[in-house]
Amino acid sequence: MADSRPVSIAAPRRRGRQVLPTDQPPEGATSPDAKPRLSFAVPVAKGKAPRHLADLDLAGRKQALKEAGLPAFRADQLSRHYFTHFTRNPADMTDLPASQRTALCDELLPDLLSQVRALKADQGKTIKYLWELFDGVRVESVLMRYKDRTTLCVSSEAGCGMACPFCATGQMGLTRNLSTAEIIEQVRQAAAASRDGELAGGPARLSNIVFMGMGEPMVNYKNLIPALHRLTQSAPEGFGISARNITVSTVGLVPLIKKLATEGMPVTLAVSLHAPDDELRDDLIPVNSRWKVGQLLDAAHEYFEATGRRVSIEYALIEDMNDHAWRAQLLADELNKRGHGWAHVNPIPLNPTPGSIWTCSRPQVQQEFVNTLRRAGITTTVRDTRGSDIDGACGQLAAEVLQQERRLS
Ligand code: SAH
Repeated sequence: MADSRPVSIAAPRRRGRQVLPTDQPPEGATSPDAKPRLSFAVPVAKGKAPRHLADLDLAGRKQALKEAGLPAFRADQLSRHYFTHFTRNPADMTDLPASQRTALCDELLPDLLSQVRALKADQGKTIKYLWELFDGVRVESVLMRYKDRTTLCVSSEAGCGMACPFCATGQMGLTRNLSTAEIIEQVRQAAAASRDGELAGGPARLSNIVFMGMGEPMVNYKNLIPALHRLTQSAPEGFGISARNITVSTVGLVPLIKKLATEGMPVTLAVSLHAPDDELRDDLIPVNSRWKVGQLLDAAHEYFEATGRRVSIEYALIEDMNDHAWRAQLLADELNKRGHGWAHVNPIPLNPTPGSIWTCSRPQVQQEFVNTLRRAGITTTVRDTRGSDIDGACGQLAAEVLQQERRLS
């Protein structure tokens, strides 16, 4: 019988200095012998987030109002206030009978996120929010204005179980999945802030959503899918954001990439690859112990075939660890082997911790990496490093605020 084990993508003969992810404990580790510990277990939450209209489709919202003895047909107006006017304040809802406004809002628009911090960076074009949820758990989102778009980076989980050693959230472990409405509330608040001119440059329309905040969206698949529905469907169901402006970023849960391809929502898939060979990726991305680079790239290519959406390959460049030109060539070969024009590569300068092995590549090394990919015909765009002065990389703000509060108590 054929051996069904995946073929491992090996590194060719090594050239250049090689720093390994195991040379130091994970970034932010609290003990010197700390090891990345991958976990798919979702801890049992202490209680459930209050039910919110964004957890339900329109029919579900009508049903919920009916069960509460309120007029079901008001679900439509309530939904439009939420998804079109970005409000949950009864005083704004003058088209609803004054006697019912509060009851309707109490029933379907509970307060889910309270703001702990809002930090501005990049001359006011970036705002990083730290939110506290009903149970005291904290998550972040980052709002970024660009010339041609305004993007929100949302969290899908509090903490993360994927344990990537260079990622601040990865060191926290997973606290819990966010409810659909906890994800959607991040978007509603950012959409209101953009509209109200809180970003430098005046009022803006929130146009793009990326699932690149805290957490692994695929581990929270059951709440991710309804969140994508609320994002893409037009009012009164949802915000009506184009699927092509939504990016779901994953560390590589292959079966769920395949499932996402069948959901009929052609969102952009981003794959956090960070290494083209299993030898390095096994240590850099712990989930590689389950699904190898070859399987992941096959699934990503299937996603492209099924949706027509070009896949983003994320590659955080880490000095002397994964930034060798031969790795750029190996990556290009692996992509080209599967077809042309189906993927583009996003090298990301690592949010560095000077003095540790987790530092970003030297500029000329980064340039050589990019040139190698481009020479091989791969579209390559270096990701800008928005918000790095406000602990922009995922999980860093939450970790920093927690440390400050510990110092103060
Ligand atoms: N779990 C998902 C989404 C969250 S992380 C995923 O892994 O894709 C979003 C992106 O930020 C990922 O590509 C992740 O690898 C990257 N990232 C994490 N820590 C980083 C750091 N210190 N510097 C640069 N990118 C980082």
